[in-house]
Formats: sequence, C-alpha cells, structure tokens
Amino acid sequence: MTVTRDIKASWNAATKLVHAGQTRSQFKETSETIYMTSGYVYGTAEEAEAAFDNSQPRFVYSRFGNPTVSMFEQRMVAIEGAEAARATSSGMAAVFASLASLVKAGDRIVASDALFGSCQFILAEILPKWGVETVFVDGRDLEQWKAALAKPTKAVFLESPSNPGLRLVDLKAVADLAHKAGATVVVDNVFATPLLQQPLKLGADVVVYSATKHIDGQGRCLGGIILGTEKYINETLQPFIRHTGPSLSPMNAWILLKGLETLDLRIAKQCESSLKIARALQGHAKLAQVSYPTLEGFPQYELAKKQMSGGGTMLSFSLAGGKAAAFKLLNALELVLISNNLGDSKSLATHPATTTHQRLTVEQRAKQGIDEGLVRLSVGLEHADDLIDDLLNALKAV
Ligand SMILES: *Cc1c(COP(=O)(O)O)cnc(C)c1O
Repeated sequence: MTVTRDIKASWNAATKLVHAGQTRSQFKETSETIYMTSGYVYGTAEEAEAAFDNSQPRFVYSRFGNPTVSMFEQRMVAIEGAEAARATSSGMAAVFASLASLVKAGDRIVASDALFGSCQFILAEILPKWGVETVFVDGRDLEQWKAALAKPTKAVFLESPSNPGLRLVDLKAVADLAHKAGATVVVDNVFATPLLQQPLKLGADVVVYSATKHIDGQGRCLGGIILGTEKYINETLQPFIRHTGPSLSPMNAWILLKGLETLDLRIAKQCESSLKIARALQGHAKLAQVSYPTLEGFPQYELAKKQMSGGGTMLSFSLAGGKAAAFKLLNALELVLISNNLGDSKSLATHPATTTHQRLTVEQRAKQGIDEGLVRLSVGLEHADDLIDDLLNALKAV
C-alpha cells in the first residue's frame, strides 16, 4: 500500500519543490524511494490482462511508467501548473519526442532561429528529411512571426532566453499568433527554469526541459521532461514514448527529485550573483558587450521584466579581441571551469563558436548573435566576489 503526499495548491513553489508528488511505501520512509525495477508482477493472469487493456491502470513496464519517475513527473506538474508530464532520458529526447509525436509529413513548423545546437539540428536536418517543413524566424521580431504564421502551422518551437545569445521571445504575443494559425506552441524553458518563467501561463501549450541543467543542478546526470495538457501528454506523446523508449531511469529520476528540493535556493543565489557579475563586467574596456536579461541597458530589458521574475543564471559577453582574446580569457580563469554544460553549482564558461555551436556556419552563427569573441558563462554557487575577481583577473591577461 502506497500513499501519495497531499499538497495544497496554495503552497509556494519552494514548498512544492520539497514535497509534491511523493508516494510513500508501507515503510513510511522520509526520502523518496528508488524503485529500481524494469518490470512488475501480477497476482493473476486476469490482472495482467486488465493492466494491458487499461481497465486497471497500474505500472506494467518501466519503459512507459515507473513509481520513482512518476514522483519526478508529479513534482514538476505541481511546479509548472501543467495537467500532466512525461520524463525522458535527456533534454534532447524531450525536445525530439515533443515534436516528433506531433507532426507528420507535409506539416509545417515555425521556429525561432536562436536555438541550442541540437534543437536546431532536429528542426533543420532531421524533421525536413521526413517531409516536415521548417521555417526559421528571428524570434525577437513579431513581424517575422506574423508573416510566417499567416499559413496553417502544426507547431511553433522556441527558446527564451536563447542559448547562448540570451535573446527573448514575447511568449504571449507569439502564442496568440500561433494559435490563430492552429499551431501547438512548444517552449524550451531551460534557461528560465520552472521558477523564473511559466510559459503555460503565458499561452504556451507544451514546455520542455533539459533536467540535466538546473533541475539536477549539480552536474550528476542527464534527464528531460515534457509538460502539457492531459490530452497532449496522454494521447499524442505517451504512445510515441511508450513505443520508442526515450525513458528516464529510476536512479536519475531520484537524483532529479533531490535536485528539485534545492532548486529555489540555488536559483535565487545564482540569479543574484549573475546580476552582480554582469554589472561588474558591463562597460569593461576589453568587452564589446555584456548580455543579461535583467541588466540595465539589455535590449529586451522591458520584455524580460514583463515575462520573467528573474534574469536567470546565464550571461554572455563578447571579447572585443575576438577568438584569440576569448581563448586567452578562458585559459587564464582559475576558479571558473571551462565546460559546455550549464546550470551547475560550479561556474562554467564556454566559447560557443568553437564548441556548442561549432557545427553552424559563420553566417548562421552571426544570425544568432554568436560572434568569435562570445563567451557564455553559467554562474554557479561560489561567492560572487570570488567569481568577479577571477573574471577581472583573467581579463587582465587578455
Ligand atoms: C542542454 C540543452 C538541451 C539538451 O539537453 P540534454 O539534457 O543535454 O540532452 C536542450 N535545450 C537547451 C536550451 C539546452 O541548454
């Protein structure tokens, strides 16, 4: 006999992050249980039959359902204000399943052009190969969205803020245009985290995360999740996941549950440090620009204030001296680590043009605002003053 923890809708996100979704076994354990099992047993053959014809819903196989994974899904549902969710083995599995389950040959997708490299690959290379048309627009420009969405469209896909250029999309305005074109709006909300921006409240239909980033937040495992209406999750997505198998392991679901318990604390601290660092770097003689959504002077500052409750844990800046200067800076860092991961408790810096976005052409990178001098910084949990000292010292080496 298991008992699911009751939660109050009125509780704040910080409280739900600790308690929501937990199912206790007969042993009444405090911490979530890791149900490390691939299958489940039935008392009788009739029970098995009823499980498979869905007349007695229950766990039947961990490719499509597992109690620990379900706890993670239910905790995320409570935070996001979604009706349902399915967890996946990585963020890319979530992005791919969210779209591949929705479209068929002949359908059309409109997407913003400032995207994480692998998201861009799915839209520009994989789906067109299967007869899906993809149209890219500058996500900041509502006129381009309007023109692209003048035709019937199956899905809209976007990232806001984008990786690594921190470009924002007006979620409410684009969702309204998309719905008129008949499109399902899918938002990759990784940079904003579930705490700083709630796309479903702004009109989006589906939200996806790489849980590898802030949700784990400590660089330990891969994971992803897709959230939306019960109709989309159960009727469109679940059959795709059930039969193609991008499933999250119970062990990783448990790590992600533990990550969620500290998400509110980490994001608050990391946002505060990020803004401090952005202010300390702004106007530096060796930098051509510093981007952070809630930094005074950021081109989309007003939009950031309107749709986000904080600027996030990521900032980017461009060295006036291009690639050579960016490499000198990275190599001179003593505290900040060079890594292409993000959302970690350790601060991480990367040079997108030669790592995460290397596959793109110079022109494609320029369109996304990724110049040769751009450095992306994921701000961790170290003391902000130590991070600022490290960055300013490294800038001296440039
Ligand atoms: C990292 C990332 C992904 C992919 O997630 P994985 O867990 O690495 O598969 C997708 N979108 C964005 C914006 C990301 O930063």
